[in-house]
Amino acid sequence: MTPPAVPAAVAPVVAAFLADRGAVDAALRRFGSPVHLVFPQVFDANLTALRTVLDAAAPRYRICYAHKVNRSGAFARAAAAAGIAIDVASVWELRAAQAAGFAGDRIEVTGPKGVALLREAVAAGATINVDNLWELETLVAMAGPDSPVPVLLRISGFAEGAPSRFGIDLGAAGAALELLVRHRARLRLLGFAFHLDTAATAERIGAVTDCLRLIELAYTRELAPSVLDIGGGLRQVFTADATAYDAYDAALRAGLRGTGPALQWGAATFGYQVCGGAIHGGPVYHKYANTEPAAAILADLLATPLPGHGGHTMDRVLADNLLDLWLEPGKALVDQAGITIATVEFVKQAGNGATLVHLDLSRDTVTAADQEVLIDPIVLSATARDEPVGVFFAGRLCLERDLITQRQVRLDGVPAPGDRVVFANTAAYHMDLSAAIAGMHPLPAKVAVCRDDSGFTLCPDADYRPDGVVV
Ligand SMILES: *Cc1c(COP(=O)(O)O)cnc(C)c1O
Repeated sequence: MTPPAVPAAVAPVVAAFLADRGAVDAALRRFGSPVHLVFPQVFDANLTALRTVLDAAAPRYRICYAHKVNRSGAFARAAAAAGIAIDVASVWELRAAQAAGFAGDRIEVTGPKGVALLREAVAAGATINVDNLWELETLVAMAGPDSPVPVLLRISGFAEGAPSRFGIDLGAAGAALELLVRHRARLRLLGFAFHLDTAATAERIGAVTDCLRLIELAYTRELAPSVLDIGGGLRQVFTADATAYDAYDAALRAGLRGTGPALQWGAATFGYQVCGGAIHGGPVYHKYANTEPAAAILADLLATPLPGHGGHTMDRVLADNLLDLWLEPGKALVDQAGITIATVEFVKQAGNGATLVHLDLSRDTVTAADQEVLIDPIVLSATARDEPVGVFFAGRLCLERDLITQRQVRLDGVPAPGDRVVFANTAAYHMDLSAAIAGMHPLPAKVAVCRDDSGFTLCPDADYRPDGVVV
């Protein structure tokens, strides 16, 4: 039995590119294999979808693209050209944002920061999304008396949800406000922020409610916050077919349970706990099941009534209180905006009967740490085939764990050396977050791809400039 297929969702411009074999071959000839391709036009379309929701619901808002999802300069330049802001989390990202054309007043610095990053961020005139009281005290010492540093307080420790290592605990927010009151000439409180590692609307509404309370508390201390920053966490759509995801998940669990053919490699359990004949827990790949676009999640959030606000919806409460809504979407802006293409080197049979398709790529180049990608790679083969097989994709490193898939993937036939293999939707956290240069392999080239009337144009990511913008 071959495993069920899990087709990837692919943006129209990306699908058109993959259908144009001349363009694909030209990209690989020019930039080598493997290669990361980013599509700024998909970034723009994702941004437009979020803006459409916000324009209808929230009169005042700011979108800060979370740079950390991808090192790409093309995405940063696309964000700058579109007039949004950027969220950076290291001195390198800060400098990249400046190079992409962002002035300090459109840069927000989040995450845990040391002295070096704080100093550079203050010098840039960026807004500091403060993680802890030490940071706040350090900023007091760094700020000039005549130019207060704009700060947001990042809050965590809300009633619901997992504990977070980031932010100021809700219980310590009072102490932070004391500090801000004492040093009002050096620090200017813009508002409160959070970033939750979940897509659950209920949890986010709880955090919004707590932050609105803090805004009121700050008013009583004669501070004047006007920003509510709800962070990122809007989800991506990876699968083209939710029922295919479910079918694969069921087949994989049957294999783990021993009631169906084993689809896993060795002892891999993908986060499931296998106990006798039963399976407990959730899989590491659950995010690949999502079918709700980010814009719909955002619309739903804004239309949710806030407890304690007379049943008014979140967008209404923000508008009534003249509050600015800030968002820090990362993965939602680059959803389906990047792919990675590798090449088959050889195919072999392992002793356990598995078919291994060996690529010129390592697992960490297309997989976020600790995860397993549950959409299928796409094989671009010159010939049509109709002999379905289940294969594992193997990486190029001399490590047992460098299997690109630890699960069998259904293909129409066994690939041949030289066939191209496309990993879809790698732009957020897949292509850059874990990639190592083990084995002295250089990192793959990153290339921006745009479609115009004459076809596809390609340029090194670092050289990309959006139309009409001279940087
Ligand atoms: C990573 C991060 C984001 C972006 O998160 P996504 O889930 O990619 O939208 C936004 N804000 C902060 C503080 C982050 O650390």
